[in-house]
Amino acid sequence: MSSEATSSDYVDDELRGEDFGPSIDDNALAAAARQARLPFDRPTEHELAFFPELWEHKTAVEVFLLIRNSTLATWQYNPQKECTASDVRNNIFPPFNSDLDLIQNVVHFLTRHGLINFGRYVRSTRITRFLVRDRRKVIIIGAGAAGISAAIQLISTGFDVTILEGRGRIGGRVHSFKTKSGQVMETGGDTLRKLEDSPMTTLLHQVSLEEHGVYDYTTIYVDGKPLNDDKIHIFLTHYESAKGALNWEAHQREHRDENGLFVSRQRAYENLMNLSERSTLIKYFNHCKSLEEVARAREKHYNQMKNLRNTALMAENRLKKLEEQGLLDNDPIMRRSLKRDVATSIQKFDEVSNAFEAADNHWKLLNEHPQAKQFMHPGSDFNTYNFMLGFEEYLIGAQLEKVQFSCDSAVNKEHGVAARLTEGVAELLLRITQRRNLDIHLNHKVVDIDYSGVDDVKVKVQKKDGEIEELTAAIVISTLPIGVLKKSISGDARAPTFTPPVPAEKAKSIRNMGSGLINKCILEFDKAFWATGSRANNQSTQFVTVSPNIRTRGSLSIWSSTPGSKVLTTYMVGDSCKDSPDDVIIQRALQTLHKVFGNNCPRTPLSAHITRWHEDEFAFGSGSFMSLRTEKSDFDELMKPLKTSDGKNRVYFAGEHTSSSYAATIQGAWMSGARAAADIANDYVGFGFVDMSGTKNVKGEDEEGGDMHIDHDGPLPEGMLADGQQANGGVVNGEIPEAKKAKIDN
Ligand SMILES: Cc1cc2nc3c(=O)[nH]c(=O)nc-3n(C[C@H](O)[C@H](O)[C@H](O)COP(=O)(O)OP(=O)(O)OC[C@H]3O[C@@H](n4cnc5c(N)ncnc54)[C@H](O)[C@@H]3O)c2cc1C
Repeated sequence: MSSEATSSDYVDDELRGEDFGPSIDDNALAAAARQARLPFDRPTEHELAFFPELWEHKTAVEVFLLIRNSTLATWQYNPQKECTASDVRNNIFPPFNSDLDLIQNVVHFLTRHGLINFGRYVRSTRITRFLVRDRRKVIIIGAGAAGISAAIQLISTGFDVTILEGRGRIGGRVHSFKTKSGQVMETGGDTLRKLEDSPMTTLLHQVSLEEHGVYDYTTIYVDGKPLNDDKIHIFLTHYESAKGALNWEAHQREHRDENGLFVSRQRAYENLMNLSERSTLIKYFNHCKSLEEVARAREKHYNQMKNLRNTALMAENRLKKLEEQGLLDNDPIMRRSLKRDVATSIQKFDEVSNAFEAADNHWKLLNEHPQAKQFMHPGSDFNTYNFMLGFEEYLIGAQLEKVQFSCDSAVNKEHGVAARLTEGVAELLLRITQRRNLDIHLNHKVVDIDYSGVDDVKVKVQKKDGEIEELTAAIVISTLPIGVLKKSISGDARAPTFTPPVPAEKAKSIRNMGSGLINKCILEFDKAFWATGSRANNQSTQFVTVSPNIRTRGSLSIWSSTPGSKVLTTYMVGDSCKDSPDDVIIQRALQTLHKVFGNNCPRTPLSAHITRWHEDEFAFGSGSFMSLRTEKSDFDELMKPLKTSDGKNRVYFAGEHTSSSYAATIQGAWMSGARAAADIANDYVGFGFVDMSGTKNVKGEDEEGGDMHIDHDGPLPEGMLADGQQANGGVVNGEIPEAKKAKIDN
């Protein structure tokens, strides 16, 4: 997989022939901006820095947003074809389509920052090379999602890219392989999440792969039996509100312990649980107190009623008796007094009986609504609730004791549209790179990155046969995973060295960042005995088995498969199964399956694969997470380039761990590669955008004929220019004399 990329590398006959033309209304524009993770109604700070005229007038902002969102909509409508200024112009109503320079600049800006014209698409414009050959050479370390994304972006910006990959394959922590019977096993990242605003959605449009939706909470088995929907609803409601409370707290103030470390997510949940238990106990106490008080009042009223009744009866009897004996005829005072006693007692009786009735109703009500003494039953309820936390561990890729409490998996993983691919996610990366003639050197393990020179970087590689080779480039991008970087700074011989060592601040951020671990137990059977999602409903299978042991709540409990597959995958988070031998893990997995499926689950699988990402010398873990030490600023420090002694940025950093919003995901890795490529283009090619190709198209010139795109508007420094070009010489309004075109494009 080598040789220089040319524009024709991007012309893919399979993809040709699609038309463009989205129906652009306000909703479509807003949706296009959302899909690109941009606010639809205001420019970002980054955009304001590139388009300073936006500071000047509100109208300028409105026109810019219309053009920007229309450009995104045009691209997203048909991402198999390059989105050019003329395409965008055709989709904007006059008079807003009259500023061709602005449209062109927006197209360039969005292209450079990997928001349009990325992945695999038919290119209709030619690539311009701005820098002389040895100034434009970039070495990318790692052919994972980040490295591939950076390479594709840089090539289309006119850089010469070589990728050095230690493994004998591309994809890095995304890896699928086929078993002897042709079943796909995915050992690394398998689910594309938040597809509603992910660049992976565009990549999926560009290549045709069968996708299946993933619904995270499906059937939950406790002790081999499915939990009823009401119970699931109760747990989910409580879990969601606990998570909401944590998120709310996370925005209130920082929570650190006496050592300055963030409170862990586990402790935060425990605190919430304790609060819930406490408030349940208080409610129980108050309930009991009310019951007792009401019972006492009821009894008191009852006794009073009894006394009053007796008093009334006695007075009435006496009255009757004295009347019969004729003793009251001469004693009217006595008669009145006895009559009053009767009347008063009856009146009081009525009052007290009302009070008794109220107390009695209250007493019945309290008995009808007993108050629980415990918020959660310490047995099965607690385990099920803990499973929810285990699920979070699976999403984050680390045990919650190690994760800082404000790290919310929902931000980039839990909610939104998620999908798995029948062919595996690695197939997506493979197809994106196909026919790109990327210069990838497999089995080239980087052992040293030397940026001690004046204006270039030396990269030492060890080949498969052990031979050491030194390569030189003007620029290097490291996509070394966080686990590898941690080994590098601790002097582990299996990881590459940096010469000189990375600055103390960067080393500190590498240490601060968490390196998580998800391993998989992948089992192949001769037939699927679980309820497989059908291809028709396009749904992946996912079910969970709640672990009775809280310590292993995130392990061997989530099971997944795709429709038609005979492979079932389960996950092991953190250290719980790290040291267990393969056969022990497989037996445990089978026992769990037996509990649910009985004899339908065979005693042995056809084949099994257990991953050991923690021992993999090209990963040393599965992904980053926000540990108790991670500060937001660590992400900035992790992506900060290293300089050579000429003061120029030379070693750039990409990889999922440099993506603060999408860390530990495939899309985070992809976006980080595009970000690093944009940083390089901005540093080396400059900020100015001048291009008149839009004007040419207005005159009816043919884009396929090879428009020249020039990305600089000021004199480039001597020595940085392409072979034979003078500083700004020959470039007039972006037009280049014919004779110079060939030299500049090289
Ligand atoms: C088990 C597991 C499950 C996952 N599940 C999901 C999921 O469902 N959804 C999701 O979005 N993400 C998931 N992830 C995370 C996702 O796979 C990663 O975030 C993403 O693939 C990282 O891409 P990257 O390019 O940053 O790093 P990598 O893919 O690791 O690429 C780095 C490359 O550098 C190479 N390299 C390392 N050292 C050297 C060296 N010395 N010399 C040369 N090359 C070197 C490596 O071989 C590798 O190819 C999962 C990861 C794992 C392990």
